[in-house]
Amino acid sequence: MTDVLLSVRDLVKHFPAAGDWFAQIFDRRVVRAVDGIGFEIDRGTTLGLVGESGSGKTTTGRIIVRLIEPTRGEILFDGIDLLKLRGKALKAMRRRIQMIFQDPASSLNPRKTVGQIVAEPLRVHGMVRGKELERRLVRTLELAGLSSRFLNRYPHELSGGQRQRVGIARALAVGPEFIVCDEPVTALDVSIQAQILNLLMDLQDELSLTYLFIAHDLSVVRHVSDRVAVMYLGKIVEIGEVDAIFSAPKHPYTQALLAAVPRPDPAAPPRKVLRGEVPSPIDPPSGCRFHPRCERYMGDICKRNEPVLAAVDGGTEVACHLYSRGG
Ligand code: SF4
Repeated sequence: MTDVLLSVRDLVKHFPAAGDWFAQIFDRRVVRAVDGIGFEIDRGTTLGLVGESGSGKTTTGRIIVRLIEPTRGEILFDGIDLLKLRGKALKAMRRRIQMIFQDPASSLNPRKTVGQIVAEPLRVHGMVRGKELERRLVRTLELAGLSSRFLNRYPHELSGGQRQRVGIARALAVGPEFIVCDEPVTALDVSIQAQILNLLMDLQDELSLTYLFIAHDLSVVRHVSDRVAVMYLGKIVEIGEVDAIFSAPKHPYTQALLAAVPRPDPAAPPRKVLRGEVPSPIDPPSGCRFHPRCERYMGDICKRNEPVLAAVDGGTEVACHLYSRGG
């Protein structure tokens, strides 16, 4: 029996295309950042959310932690309708759902010490004070792989990896159940990335955490995920078990992304490059949004009819007319 912790249904986020209010009066177009997506994440598991920049993956993560409000949709967390929460109920929920940001250098206040940064969420939620606060800080830093000697240091005195460990400690401080990890290793040196990924996986085991892991790097996603959802221009085009997606990708976009991953063997033939740019989310292509770049394009059916996610084999769901035709 599955134990779904997070369920997202028909989530939509449209932003005004123009920047300031004056421009918006004259330009009523919208950026379709997220355009009707849905997925579930079982308790204690990781869903990897991948796609090129502009696919809507970060917007999705930010909606779940309520940093931005969606245009419409439903998010159930442990059976609670997250988007209806206000005031104290929302504040209480923020303890259960936290976020780790991409760039630890800009997400940490440079004028605060590590101790102050990690203590802030505990203070906001009025959780602990005095000696107990200090004990909690030391314990939280240790969980993130930092000793108590970091408590009085400032972010500029730390390496990139240490700063991201502080970001992780800040997320862990209030004892969350669910963490949105938004490209948590993208800004780090390759040599440090594996350490942070292993830390996140160890913490998941130790604290029974559930993750939404957002990344554009497929090798990172493969390493940490149980299931993977592939996004393109605001839509999920394929979702399934990590092994199924990586061993037998179904959607031409997933296939192209995987074919573009560099190989470690220098003698291997060069990888294919995904042709063309991601089109504008202000005016996405008709029918299948991937059709201008698709190597399997089949003409009118792809250009005119929007494919919907449908189950193929092995539990994978794909939005592509190749499969609706029995391909
Ligand atoms: Fe390619 Fe058509 Fe499938 Fe879209 S629906 S991915 S254009 S084959």
